[in-house]
Amino acid sequence: MVKKEILIVDDSEINRSMLRLMLEEEYDITEAENGAEAMAIIEKDDHIFRLILLDLVMPVMDGFQFLQELGNHKLDPEIPVIIISGDSSEESLDKAYGLGAVDFFTKPFNPSIVSHRVQNVINLYSHSYRDMLTGCYNRNGFIQIAEKFIQKEEDVTKYSMMFFDIKNFKAINSIMGNSGGDYVLKFISNGIQKSNLNPLFVARLEADHFVCLAEKGLVNYTSMMEENGSLLEFNGHTLQVRFRAGVAHLDIKRPVVEFMDRAKLALNYIEDEYLKPYAEFDGKMAQNYVNAAVVTSEFETSLDNGEFQVYYQPVMETSTGKVASAEALVRWIHPDRGLIRPDLFIPALEKDGYISRLDLFVDMKVNSVIKKWKADGLPVVPISVNLSWMDFYDADMIQLIKDRLENDPNSSKDIRYEITESSYAALKENRSIILREMRRLGAQLLMDDFGTGYSSLGMLMHYQFNILKIDMSIVRQLEVNAEVPHIVELIINMSHHLKMKVVAEGVETESQLNFLKNAGCDYIQGYYFSKPLPEEEFKAFLAKHLAEDKILTY
Ligand code: C2E
Ligand code: MG
Ligand code: MG
Repeated sequence: MVKKEILIVDDSEINRSMLRLMLEEEYDITEAENGAEAMAIIEKDDHIFRLILLDLVMPVMDGFQFLQELGNHKLDPEIPVIIISGDSSEESLDKAYGLGAVDFFTKPFNPSIVSHRVQNVINLYSHSYRDMLTGCYNRNGFIQIAEKFIQKEEDVTKYSMMFFDIKNFKAINSIMGNSGGDYVLKFISNGIQKSNLNPLFVARLEADHFVCLAEKGLVNYTSMMEENGSLLEFNGHTLQVRFRAGVAHLDIKRPVVEFMDRAKLALNYIEDEYLKPYAEFDGKMAQNYVNAAVVTSEFETSLDNGEFQVYYQPVMETSTGKVASAEALVRWIHPDRGLIRPDLFIPALEKDGYISRLDLFVDMKVNSVIKKWKADGLPVVPISVNLSWMDFYDADMIQLIKDRLENDPNSSKDIRYEITESSYAALKENRSIILREMRRLGAQLLMDDFGTGYSSLGMLMHYQFNILKIDMSIVRQLEVNAEVPHIVELIINMSHHLKMKVVAEGVETESQLNFLKNAGCDYIQGYYFSKPLPEEEFKAFLAKHLAEDKILTY
């Protein structure tokens, strides 16, 4: 157990030693001979003092002056102070209380009273400002102290707010037990406080969420990356602890909570948790931000108002550069906020169960577009629709898909289904019959985001897929990590052995394309060829490619 720290400020060595004897079994004691020395220790800021025991009459800087300084001190005015003094005149006491002292002991000290009152004061103060587990601030304490600091500071642009969370904290808790989880939290809290960031204030907000306020100049991602992923030993387990950070640089004086929200929001924009486990807030994020409660309250009206639109991203055959297929990707064109990316509202819809309505909408839309284009004699390609794990619990939706496959056998060629491994759990719960049924009826299934999760291979072993999609986070690492090209080659070979075709997602550069071409990857999806396009633009894209004989017949 980490001991709580107490600072004893007294010019009499005998007094300090006496108090130390009474308290050192339970507390970690630091001593100072006068107010100035104590102030210097506090300013160094490598302690987390829970209490100061303060003599009033001392050379250099007396207790009153010290209280005054502490009161002005922007870093940590919230450490409670108990006066220990021979001078118990009413006048001195009044003055000391007026300057913020909270209690008073007279000499000679009674060990049992000292220990109880010390404990009481620490508890009283800790509950409201401190996180009991880690000793750093709690939400309340952080907001108060950071608010005070920001309001006093002339130029707030020198500072940054950072929001941290620990990767897989729930899993850590279940593997190592709660005591292991606590150990990790203390480790992270310590790590943040002692890091090169040298933060002004650190808090644990809840669970594995930490915030800190630091000087902008000290926010150094290279050094953060070096500290990320340290190995921790606990009860015979060795564990790698990784964190992610969202950063909001202060621009003007705003309430602290706004910067905390911004830093937290930035977390959602981390694209690769390993290569770049941090993101900085920018104005666009706030504009895009949709609160989960707002999503679900607005969803049905927005759907009725036609605010959801389907975009189409072409997928090209690698060897010929012809259009082979496309993926339907939903967009929310919000009247006030503009285009909102699916990553920002799909998780909320999944939580509330609305996602299946949206998926069904996309599916029907795609079906009607294909039918219409065919009827008009326009070029078409197979289009894949994303299914959420929730869809496997929605009997109506599944029935509709099955009915269409049964009644309209052509539809299995036109519409394909993309499934991620997040559906694995749902499928295993006796629902694997659904996928088998769909396959029996001729549906083409794509394994989406291959390589991002733990059970991608499990999925392949249990279900048959027609096409495997290599996730874009892997494609991005092709030129960064020397092992990745081998892994990608192996995935492609394995897929071909299993009679699956392979799509590489997120291909942006010519060198990625060339590598994938040589490795035998069948199809390419990515900005290199095209971003997801609104319906009319996709129609034009197809027409243009038809004119150049660049559409694959199916
Ligand atoms: P996904 O199914 O893996 O879709 C591919 C995502 O990669 C799309 O993001 C696409 O815009 C993006 N992308 C494609 N090529 C590139 C590239 O070269 N560079 C970069 N940076 N990105 C590229 P999007 O549209 O934001 O969709 C995100 C995820 O949201 C999708 O990932 C999918 O899981 C989900 N989603 C989208 N539409 C639907 C839907 O109708 N229903 C369900 N259930 N999920 C959907
Ligand atoms: Mg997909
Ligand atoms: Mg994908």
